[in-house]
Amino acid sequence: MSNVMAGKERSFLEVEKWAQGVKARLPVLKVTGSVPGPLAVITAGQHGRELNGIAAIEKLFNRLDPEKLKGTVVFLPVMNPIAVLSRRQDFPMEEFRYRRVYLDRSGGPTLAYNMDRCWIDNPTADTYTFAITQAVKKTWMSKADLIIDLHGWSDTSISLVWGYRENEELVKAFGLPWFKIRDRLDEQSFGMVLNLARETGKPRILVCELTPQSVLNHVSVEYAFRGMSNSLKFLGMIDGKPEIPPVQYQMRQNAKMTGMVSQAEGLIIAEALPGEFVRKGQTVTRVVSLETLETLWSYQAPEDCLVFGNGRTLWGEDLKESSIAYPGFSVGNLVEVEKVITNSVTE
Ligand SMILES: [Zn+2]
Repeated sequence: MSNVMAGKERSFLEVEKWAQGVKARLPVLKVTGSVPGPLAVITAGQHGRELNGIAAIEKLFNRLDPEKLKGTVVFLPVMNPIAVLSRRQDFPMEEFRYRRVYLDRSGGPTLAYNMDRCWIDNPTADTYTFAITQAVKKTWMSKADLIIDLHGWSDTSISLVWGYRENEELVKAFGLPWFKIRDRLDEQSFGMVLNLARETGKPRILVCELTPQSVLNHVSVEYAFRGMSNSLKFLGMIDGKPEIPPVQYQMRQNAKMTGMVSQAEGLIIAEALPGEFVRKGQTVTRVVSLETLETLWSYQAPEDCLVFGNGRTLWGEDLKESSIAYPGFSVGNLVEVEKVITNSVTE
């Protein structure tokens, strides 16, 4: 039988192992095209506070036309259902129990409760999280030609997409204004999805961070929707040319990061937004007194660079982001840019 049954289907992937008294069932949305072609596997929700990717997948699944698709797209939009429903990054019970560092076979650190550190061959603990990565690796990751893994940093950073250097053109075609290129053999395996391609460079893998956490942001949802569509176009799975922004900022994995540490107490006023390119000497951020509203401290860019985060302190499970600074608190950071790319965009 060489007939491909084009269409859309919804099903579940049940993992084999129970752990901590639970056994996960992951939603699987599949679009089969009318012509055989590559398999794209798109995941979101490995971390429970990262929701923009889920919404972007909902949109793409609805928009994709099986008759116009070459190959198959499999979406696993809620990789970590307990964490997502708990509104926390990780499965709270495992986070509490396994918050210690394990070593994977290649010697890199792996956290047994953090799903994007659990993509290794020999699980180091019997966790719900490992049961999920093992099941998904066996069923879908091992067959994929393209993997897109959607995450979401907090609003203390910009959105960002990255991949290994052999996929530089694809990373760029994803179409985010900001991207990072990593050299796979220059880094250890950290048990991340990206590291599945560390040894051979295959499959093609993109990882995308979409700010903020815990609530949807329509700009980020659009970034992810366009990024996934662009990637399918790049691979010839759907028609059309990738839509890329007029300016893109390319960074190296080990790009220099400079933290801006407040020397004063007060309200942080960002003078340049995250994602903006600033010139040497330009004022990036200020802290003003809550008694006089006078500027107590300000920070000037030490060189031409990109604002990676600005205007907030803290982030994390039980740390509320805030624009109130105390002395010694980081209020943002700047990142070195390798290339500013100007694209000719036809409107
Ligand atoms: Zn994440």
